[in-house]
Amino acid sequence: MTRAAASPHRLDTALQALSGLSDTPLLSKALEEIFPGRACVVSAFGAESAVVLDLVARIDRRTPVLFIDTGKHFQETLDYRDMLIDRLRLEDVRSIGPARDATPGDPDGLLHQTNTDACCDLRKVQPLEKALAQFDVWVTGRKRFQGGARAVLPTAETDGPDRLKLNPLADWTPDRIDAYFDNFALPRHPLWHRGYRSIGCGPCTGKPIAAGDDRSGRWLGQEKTECGIHRYGDRAA
Ligand code: SF4
Repeated sequence: MTRAAASPHRLDTALQALSGLSDTPLLSKALEEIFPGRACVVSAFGAESAVVLDLVARIDRRTPVLFIDTGKHFQETLDYRDMLIDRLRLEDVRSIGPARDATPGDPDGLLHQTNTDACCDLRKVQPLEKALAQFDVWVTGRKRFQGGARAVLPTAETDGPDRLKLNPLADWTPDRIDAYFDNFALPRHPLWHRGYRSIGCGPCTGKPIAAGDDRSGRWLGQEKTECGIHRYGDRAA
């Protein structure tokens, strides 16, 4: 069911209220006070996803978690997703996306070999946009240290005219991420143990090729650095 869009005034007020907050205080205020029942997390169940999922689960494990099942994930990612659902007792993980290898527009499932932008649009951007229509705010696990367009990431920002996006880990460092995994004994993605540091679809993910740049193994040999689900340049808190 499509929700009535939040008014620009309501979003402006919320953005101001969230200004200056990070990690748990940011999530608590958004999930419990401002947008109860109107927020979701979008997670790829990748290398560091467990951190933001754990933070959210400690506040409300009923928060919807959207997993974009592109049909191209590593089997290890699907297994890790199921393990984390169990471990964190996530109560509302929703798989969205095209049917595996039956996608109109990519009938043979090989579009990623010739046009990665079109493939990401078909398998990620369009399904997510449709799923987000019922939410006022979504939560991501992006960090500034990931570089590129993420280097100036705010903790709260607008995402188009009628939605907000929160990045509660925006100002976290790699050491802080590692410490969180250790302190809470969170399981690592199986491919992390094999040297992968940023994990998306199998055909478009390799191990990092540049020291200190975890995302340098994504879309190897291409200028592409983002799949397209994130708009940049919207207003920030
Ligand atoms: S990351 Fe690769 S396989 Fe996945 S949707 Fe994008 S182009 Fe397709």
